[in-house]
Amino acid sequence: MKPKVLVTRNIPRDGLKELFEKCQVDYHDSNELLSTEELFERVKEIDGLLCVGIRTDDELMNHAPRLKVISNYGVGYDNIDVEAATRRKIIVTNTPDVVTEATAELTFSLILAVTRRIAEADRILRSKVPFRWGPMQLVGFELVGKTLGIIGFGRIGQAVARRAKAFGMNVIYYQRTPRDKSVDSSESCYYRPLEALLKESDIVSIHVPLTKDTHHLIGEEQFSMMKKGSYIINTARGPVVDEEALVKALKSGILAGAGLDVFEKEPHIHPELLELDNTVLTPHIGTSTIDTRIAMAKMTAENLIAVLEGKRPANVVNPEVYSLTEN
Ligand code: NAP
Repeated sequence: MKPKVLVTRNIPRDGLKELFEKCQVDYHDSNELLSTEELFERVKEIDGLLCVGIRTDDELMNHAPRLKVISNYGVGYDNIDVEAATRRKIIVTNTPDVVTEATAELTFSLILAVTRRIAEADRILRSKVPFRWGPMQLVGFELVGKTLGIIGFGRIGQAVARRAKAFGMNVIYYQRTPRDKSVDSSESCYYRPLEALLKESDIVSIHVPLTKDTHHLIGEEQFSMMKKGSYIINTARGPVVDEEALVKALKSGILAGAGLDVFEKEPHIHPELLELDNTVLTPHIGTSTIDTRIAMAKMTAENLIAVLEGKRPANVVNPEVYSLTEN
């Protein structure tokens, strides 16, 4: 008998051919989230969960006694209680690499949009105020020669750095583990402790995962260290930034602007972020290109099928399950 799988939202079917061939798929063909009650009902007999933007916690796993794999549609997996999964010997997988370029492109779009005031300019034209060129109208901030500080220099952080280099920017970065100095020099991307990075950067871009350690990594104290008139970009996870402190920094002029794809209490947006003219806001669309969304569907399906076929998938988040299984 084919294993049973639940796909919790409508991802591109182009990437799911093999999944439909090999599994009995309950495909929730909608962008609407399943209610908690419905989820509990539909996971009762499943072997695999293809998890698209849903919180997968201990309680949900309690309702799925046969579950062997949670294949997350995304590289960030803060929506999953990995400890609870590991306790149950459930493998958790994610989608690294395939999301990198699209997310870096969106990050750079936000950098350009906020520094060149593109959304603001668009709003002015749409307000039907007569258009008149003016030498001091919508004056922006040039990137060439400026310093981009990248917090979290992993796959996406480095992809953003490559784009920044093409724009003639200086790049510095912070993460817990500095790279070898020779690598930094060969790429002209230099490690700085967080405090130094905040002081030196004209634009700070965040690319760390959301964990207990990175929750509110950037708050009032960190904003107070930033250059007056600098910018912040967040395409990682909302709770990495204390949003109240962010609003204060934007209103006080410490920050000249913010480009945000993620928010502290998604889908709720802080009302003052919506009021400010110096913010550019997008609704968590970092990976939203058709190429990437198909590649993510394919990867989640491959990860899930591998586990159900007793193979080790490429992208395991909790490899310790394998040692638990061996003992
Ligand atoms: P990655 O390759 O794992 O890079 C993460 C980086 O963060 C590493 O450099 C890591 O270095 C650093 N880091 C981790 N914990 C840290 C800490 N406590 N303090 C400082 N640095 C820390 O991940 P990625 O593929 O680039 O993805 C990054 C995040 O982007 C994902 O976790 C996801 O939440 C987010 N994302 C968002 C979207 C979107 O739609 N907006 C799309 C894709 C990804 P060290 O371990 O050495 O510290």
